[in-house]
Amino acid sequence: ELELRNIVKNFGAVEVIRDVSLSVNDGEFIAFVGPSGCGKSTLLRLIAGLDKPTGGSIAIDGKDVTEIGAADRGLAMVFQSYALYPHMSVRENLAFGLENTKVPKAEIEARIADAARMLEIVPFLQRRPGQLSGGQRQRVAIGRAIVRRPDAFLLDEPLSNLDAELRVTMRAELAALHARLQATMIYVTHDQVEAMTLADRIVVLRSGRIEQIGTPLELYNKPANRFVAGFIGAPH
Ligand code: ATP
Ligand code: MG
Repeated sequence: ELELRNIVKNFGAVEVIRDVSLSVNDGEFIAFVGPSGCGKSTLLRLIAGLDKPTGGSIAIDGKDVTEIGAADRGLAMVFQSYALYPHMSVRENLAFGLENTKVPKAEIEARIADAARMLEIVPFLQRRPGQLSGGQRQRVAIGRAIVRRPDAFLLDEPLSNLDAELRVTMRAELAALHARLQATMIYVTHDQVEAMTLADRIVVLRSGRIEQIGTPLELYNKPANRFVAGFIGAPH
């Protein structure tokens, strides 16, 4: 279980996250939606441990991790910018960080093969990120998270660069992956259809605050205000 309590984040004098509290159950699929600049990526970085909150606390399974670094939180993040290693091949990017762990070589190979097939990147395994399209790079970034088998995935607009057809395919693959691994997923998206079809609960953010949290149906049927209704695509 992941618990955010009264999280505040300031950049200089600007309050970017304002008193956000949220509990995420194990295995839950949570979507963060909201306009550009509302704080979605910042909140993910705080959960990941890549940044420290100005105020408030974060707990995982009842343990306070607010002061614990990203490497020790058992999470894997897929960045909006992909953050691949340019000098490594795709396969090396996927394997990186796993090779000096307890995971056996054969298991690493099996995970890479599995992720590559799922993400349709098998033909590119020997290429470097610079030799890939944006959408191909994006799928490698997802693959890098998948092969690590984290307790929780933090995905920042993971399908934003894909064409419509591939996006539908990958949406289904992510849903299947979630069902298979039973991992927690926190998923940032601009796409209402993605949020409505994938998420157990949707968190609507606006100017660093939570406007509403609920199941897709709750938000659709009972949006707290016009802003939420507008964002969810509900009649208002
Ligand atoms: P988008 O949908 O465009 O990705 P977002 O909801 O992910 O937007 P964030 O990246 O979380 O938004 O940014 C929230 C606010 O914080 C923005 O106003 C942004 O300019 C500001 N911000 C983010 N990172 C920093 C930083 N390192 N220093 C100063 N301001 C920052
Ligand atoms: Mg963002």
